[in-house]
Amino acid sequence: MKAHDGLYIDGAWRPAESRDVIEVVNPADEQVIGRVPAGNALDVDTAVRAARAALPGWAATPPAERAARLAALRDVLVARKDEIAETVTAELGAPLQFSQAVHAGVPIAVAGSYAELAATHSFEEKVGNSTVLHEPIGVVAAITPWNYPLHQIVAKAAPALAAGCTIVLKPAEDTPLTAQLFAEAVHEAGVPAGVFNLVTGLGPVAGQALAEHPCVDLVSFTGSTTVGRQIGAVAGAAVKKVALELGGKSANVILPSADLAKAVAVGVANVMSNSGQTCSAWTRMLVHRDRYDEAVELARAAAAKYGDRIGPVVSAKQQARVRSYIEKGLAEGARLVTGGPESPREQGYFVSPTVFADVTPQMTIAQEEIFGPVLSILRYEDEEDALRIANGTVYGLAGAVWAADEAEAVAFARRMDTGQVDINGGRFNPLAPFGGYKQSGVGRELGGHGLAEYLQTKSLQF
Ligand code: NAD
Repeated sequence: MKAHDGLYIDGAWRPAESRDVIEVVNPADEQVIGRVPAGNALDVDTAVRAARAALPGWAATPPAERAARLAALRDVLVARKDEIAETVTAELGAPLQFSQAVHAGVPIAVAGSYAELAATHSFEEKVGNSTVLHEPIGVVAAITPWNYPLHQIVAKAAPALAAGCTIVLKPAEDTPLTAQLFAEAVHEAGVPAGVFNLVTGLGPVAGQALAEHPCVDLVSFTGSTTVGRQIGAVAGAAVKKVALELGGKSANVILPSADLAKAVAVGVANVMSNSGQTCSAWTRMLVHRDRYDEAVELARAAAAKYGDRIGPVVSAKQQARVRSYIEKGLAEGARLVTGGPESPREQGYFVSPTVFADVTPQMTIAQEEIFGPVLSILRYEDEEDALRIANGTVYGLAGAVWAADEAEAVAFARRMDTGQVDINGGRFNPLAPFGGYKQSGVGRELGGHGLAEYLQTKSLQF
């Protein structure tokens, strides 16, 4: 798609007050593929005012009509799915097939799920002698990362629209073209002017101005724990609601009875897909000592097969960050099984699929989020040890458990401090609540729980 040189505010593409621009770079070949405005605080203010002005009308729009706009939005996304996939591939670097299946496919499913939820959700309930109204929370500031650029936007915009909220989106600097395409889709779907607004720009400038804006009622942020902490503090000081989807360091726990080959194959694929840039990736594989060597060999072979099929990471900065973690793993005594810090290609921000064995729970690569194609394999003595290791980080976003018997895996999963667990390779469910325990976040996205984030209750007593 062609980059817009304006911001989408109040139903039209308008020139930005700011003269600054963001250059969008294709991480596979390092070429500049577009330029978008880097909006400033004035631009954010204009967008928030447009959202505020549109709020009463949209909040009063019957849910069935909001559902119809969401269904239309889903249909536009379906009609433009090839363009979505190509745009994500161009600015994020994901292989086209993955972009088609996941980067385009998942947001279509999520938009569809909110078209249905808007039509069927009870925005009123009876509790004893009260009628409880579920009302939109107001103007939403949505701040999103680049790793699943369209999914992260739709996971906020679709429930906000379903709830009757209006939105200002500040997408990630690295992937603004996908956000512009989404704004075009919202426009095509007939969403009224001012209900959805887009300000592209830098985090510390446009993002911060948006989070701090006094006319914003809810800040919904997905990104790093560091920035999430700042946004939580700003929102707390202003007594405004905040939802935070942050980092992760999830455990893939392979119990002794599990089908080892399957658990390792799925586990490696989980970490390598999207070049490891998945917040919920199971980057720590936990294997019983009796099966450890076998698991390491299986993981090595599986990761080596990824060699040429993996896309680049999103930017030079991300590449440097991932490589420095690999160097740290080596320096702290982990055993490199495959991959390594050297760049596998001369051009593009590529990182080799990397597997470390003999990783101990205290090592940096077992504690910190790397956000690259790097898997750490840890050894455990017994189930209690596995649980201690699995729960032994500041994060709690996702995880997996494998066992011959489903009930055995579920019993272990119940003791994990984490927001979602896949049992024996369970499939992604776009209706299941997604979000973190501990420092992985506050609040939930997707499905009915995600919708609830954008509603506040008013009780009428009779
Ligand atoms: P990031 O925190 O640097 O940026 C995320 C967004 O916040 C971007 O739009 C950025 O411009 C903006 N931002 C940066 N500084 C800001 C500030 N001071 N005020 C307001 N906004 C600001 O994160 P990233 O590097 O873009 O994304 C990677 C991180 O996101 C990883 O840690 C990953 O785990 C996390 N993530 C979490 C989830 C989840 O659902 N839990 C999903 C995807 C990514």
